[in-house]
Amino acid sequence: MPPSLRHLRFVMILQAFVALFLVALTSSSPVVEKRQTLARVITKCTKPNTVALTFDDGPWVYLYDVSKALIAYNATGTFFFNGCIYDADEAKRVLYAYQKGHQVASHTWSHSDLTTLSWDNIHDEMWRVEQALQKIVGVVPAFMRPPYGNYNDLVLQASAVRNQSVVIWDFDSEDSIGATPAQSESDYDQIISKHPSTILALNHEIHETTAHQVLPYALDKLSKAGYNMVSVAECVGLPAYQFIGSPEIRDSTWHC
Ligand SMILES: [Zn+2]
Repeated sequence: MPPSLRHLRFVMILQAFVALFLVALTSSSPVVEKRQTLARVITKCTKPNTVALTFDDGPWVYLYDVSKALIAYNATGTFFFNGCIYDADEAKRVLYAYQKGHQVASHTWSHSDLTTLSWDNIHDEMWRVEQALQKIVGVVPAFMRPPYGNYNDLVLQASAVRNQSVVIWDFDSEDSIGATPAQSESDYDQIISKHPSTILALNHEIHETTAHQVLPYALDKLSKAGYNMVSVAECVGLPAYQFIGSPEIRDSTWHC
């Protein structure tokens, strides 16, 4: 090989090494990013023949009637609570739901769109509800539903750090987006007529018609269709709580 060609080959090998080195250097941060654990996102129940009826935005005055309707059909509900639940009436409703055997979970504190918040603020939104549930009920929830169903990788990373699964839904009764009770009932009729193996249903306990009309209607139809109406935790076969203790005594820290 002539000396000029040998030199050229040496230069090419050197260039290849430099290129490899640069690729390794520049790709190191995205690789680390991908290694961040993301929380599990639940959009469906997995246990066959189950329906999980979920209720967001409470605890509100209709919670008692929602619970009574569920129990009348041997059903367990899941409540995603948010807001200042230290208020005496609200705390009473939270404890009532838990003591009646329903699952209590977090809908975060101030109903902010978590995808617009910083890492610290996302944790603050999550931590406040978890602490309140620990004081009021004595449990730390293992499930969280983000307001509006909105999440991004930062939200999922924060949830993973807090050992929580993120719960969305695969059926919306549309009670929070202006559906009339008749429309919500028709939505339930349609899904039940298709008879999917499972249903994870979104409802809002703050609407009087959801508590007094749509829910009793849906419970009757679901029950006749032969579904087991269970909590989200049960329908996916995971523990509802990270910790189960006893309610604390109200003190000066129970404030918003
Ligand atoms: Zn909500």
